Amino acid sequence: MAQSTRYSVKLVPDFERQLFYGDETIEFQADAGEVQWQKQAGLHVASASVADGEVTVGEQAVRVRLRSGGRHRLKLKYTAAAGRGVQWFADNAGLATAFYCESWMVCGNSPGQRATLQLEIAVLFRPLTHGASGFRAVGPGRRDKEWRDRDADHFVFEQSAPVQTYLFSFAVARLAVAVDGIFSIYAQRTDASKAAFAKTADAYAFLRAAASVDPMNSDYTQAFLPGPSMGQEAAGMALMSQEDLANLVANDDVQLMAHELAHQWWGVTVGIRSWSDFWLNEGFAEFMADAYIEKHQGRAAYDKQIAELQDRMNKLREAGKDRPLHWEKWKDAQEALGQIPYVKGALFLDRLRTELGEEIFWRGIGLYTSANARRLVDSRDFERAMEKTSGRDLRALFDEEVYR
Ligand SMILES: [Zn+2]
Repeated sequence: MAQSTRYSVKLVPDFERQLFYGDETIEFQADAGEVQWQKQAGLHVASASVADGEVTVGEQAVRVRLRSGGRHRLKLKYTAAAGRGVQWFADNAGLATAFYCESWMVCGNSPGQRATLQLEIAVLFRPLTHGASGFRAVGPGRRDKEWRDRDADHFVFEQSAPVQTYLFSFAVARLAVAVDGIFSIYAQRTDASKAAFAKTADAYAFLRAAASVDPMNSDYTQAFLPGPSMGQEAAGMALMSQEDLANLVANDDVQLMAHELAHQWWGVTVGIRSWSDFWLNEGFAEFMADAYIEKHQGRAAYDKQIAELQDRMNKLREAGKDRPLHWEKWKDAQEALGQIPYVKGALFLDRLRTELGEEIFWRGIGLYTSANARRLVDSRDFERAMEKTSGRDLRALFDEEVYR
């Protein structure tokens, strides 16, 4: 197993052909033997080399057989055609990637592996625009250097604390940037930013208090992109749509904003060890958004959210889609997703809240989150924190709701 991995990726999107040209270096620590990374079939490796070993490129993996242990460096050049996890917007309005980094880079995509990333995106000028394309990239981690040379605008993003690679998503579109303290907003127009910043800061204060710990990334960027409504969390960032920004500001619809922001704690700072416990990301984000709605709009608004979740859960049950929250029968990440982790997960947290009472429940959430910051967890870690806080044996409740 490769450890202390650092990816350095330079990507050039080709908007006409809808593909990426990639140049990647993977620095990693490993013993002699075999190490492997994932890629989608549409990612074609043109060259791959490592100093002390042999590289084999398969359809969905790149394998390296190392002759010695220690620090290694794998260098790759590739092209990546459209695949799962890459969306090219209509009318040449840009692109977004979500979740599946193996569609645009060679990466270890198991949640058990965390890595740091330097991502450079070079947006070439187009023949007809004679210069600036107006496109701007938004990516995970800290916004680093930006420069323009003869051919392209370059944007660099640095994620210096190790995170799971599904948190490496980025986007390119015609975007302006507004900054307010630790918060940034990328959107086509930033005139609504002031109101959006105020709402984000309010939700942040609520979630920070619930978590009892700062998120791993000190800065937080919200990118509102062209195209249909979407929500994808990344390290220090979330990708949403222009519509979502309009909804947030004009209709005070804080749900998606709060859900994505909650992932900075439950998802990024506290990571799941395997997709089997995906509900610890999505059930938490969903529940925290609803708890924030209660703080923001009152108890009746929270009750309405929970009633809606119960409706959705009943429909899932009727459709035969119920399954345990901790669920090991998935073969790839796609199968571990679906609605159950969101809906059933949030309902379970609501039940725990009722069962344990306000004070103990929120103290337990704080203990679980702060004690597991920058660690990988499973459902037992959550159970232990709630048992420790409440002084109760919760095995029967967790067995009923989580494990069967
Ligand atoms: Zn989510």
